[in-house]
Amino acid sequence: MTDAPALPLKLFNSLTRSLEEFVPVHPGEARVYSCGPTVYNYPHIGNMRAYVFADTLGRTLSFKGYKLTHVINITDVGHLTDDADAGEDKLEKAAAEKAQSIWDIARHYTEAYWDDIKALNIRQPAHWSIATDYVPAMIDFAKAIADRHCYELEGGLYFDTTTVAHYGSLARAGTDEGESRIDPVEGKRHAADFAIWRKTPAGETRQMEWDSPWGKGAPGWHLECSVMSEALLGFPFDIHTGGIDHREIHHPNEIAQNQAHSCSDASGARFWMHNNFLVERSGKMSKSSGEFLRVQLLIDKGYHPLAYRLMCLQAHYRSELEFSWEGLGAALTRLKRLVMGVEKLKAQTDLAVSGEPVTDFLDEAISNDLNTSVVLTTLEAILTMKKVSPAERIRTIEKIDDVLGLQLLSLSRADLRLRPKNATITEAVIEATLTRRKEARANKDFSTSDALRDELVAAGVEVMDGDPLGWDWRLEA
Ligand code: AMP
Ligand code: ZN
Repeated sequence: MTDAPALPLKLFNSLTRSLEEFVPVHPGEARVYSCGPTVYNYPHIGNMRAYVFADTLGRTLSFKGYKLTHVINITDVGHLTDDADAGEDKLEKAAAEKAQSIWDIARHYTEAYWDDIKALNIRQPAHWSIATDYVPAMIDFAKAIADRHCYELEGGLYFDTTTVAHYGSLARAGTDEGESRIDPVEGKRHAADFAIWRKTPAGETRQMEWDSPWGKGAPGWHLECSVMSEALLGFPFDIHTGGIDHREIHHPNEIAQNQAHSCSDASGARFWMHNNFLVERSGKMSKSSGEFLRVQLLIDKGYHPLAYRLMCLQAHYRSELEFSWEGLGAALTRLKRLVMGVEKLKAQTDLAVSGEPVTDFLDEAISNDLNTSVVLTTLEAILTMKKVSPAERIRTIEKIDDVLGLQLLSLSRADLRLRPKNATITEAVIEATLTRRKEARANKDFSTSDALRDELVAAGVEVMDGDPLGWDWRLEA
């Protein structure tokens, strides 16, 4: 039994496609940069999986004793409708469609994203870096690499991907393999070359534009992450995260810029880590097709958002995870069982009693590339482990929950009730009706008791006599 996590932390590095021991650049510190949302629309729950993963990584680094500095950026300029180099700026497009200013669009969706961050109990990073705050720094960065690595076309300044060593090795794609993924831009030397600066076409005015040596315009999307990660975390820093799609274009382009700017082969981060996708049975998750799966939709249907966090933690971050409402329901039930177990334990012990946490199981599982699903089964085993005193078990659960972020010590079963937004009956009325039903039953007045039950059923309430989890009722989702 020990408090100090002693095992080496092994993480999967996409650069080498292998598990490597985490050794920080600065002893005792961990500096992490996560590619954040493009704030032209609400994030879907797949996007939020990327931040649950980054948060779990951050919590793990804190558990391992590192002083964590986490940065998440907010992209409010430059991300085109195609990840590579074609289409319109996503924010310009959304602003035109909604006839609003880009700044209002960005503020609205940034706040909505922050609501989701809070709902999923994702810890606040040390910095939210906003791309538009860094445009002068991006221009300086571009100036520094322009002569040796870029060429100018009518549309802007382009990065020549053949001027750096091993372009695209993160994606394991050669420079020509990108041919099909990109709308050809006239004059581009290689298909994978990408815009560092996009000039405003003559005669047009963009809502967002800045003066630069290459004319009025806006930065290319990839530039912001190179600039902000170095400004806030130094060069190199420890870990760069993002969804698996970023392994193919965005991160190889960041790496190419970093190599050019540092005049070296350094990618900029020691580890590049990628979470796999959340998918729907029908395929890729999208913001436009079918039901728009947002955290708020889960809440409106009555699910506590931490059930979704648990759903993410049940899978390994590198595995694809399929979303289904049944799966979410099962995760909610699992969370209820955990909370019930903790409530029982709390009743058995005085929280002021001291106890040593047992962290070796946790250390072993989480140090193995964040094996949260094993941490969860370990947690379930510890809840009922008789040889560990209740006080020690509580302390252990606190430690585990610092890593999982499920709020197991503060949630109550009542918080986890299904609470659909469209329910026509209040909890107070349900409780009062059930009390009357109980009285009727005690008086053997079964016709009244049945009538009251029918009343509840008509209002969408399922009466759950003898439920093993101890629920008296639930609202239909
Ligand atoms: P975006 O706002 O499109 O730049 O995406 C924000 C983050 O979500 C990025 O790290 C993406 O790689 C990630 N991402 C996008 N779709 C999914 C998905 N279906 N599952 C998991 N992560 C995703
Ligand atoms: Zn990025």
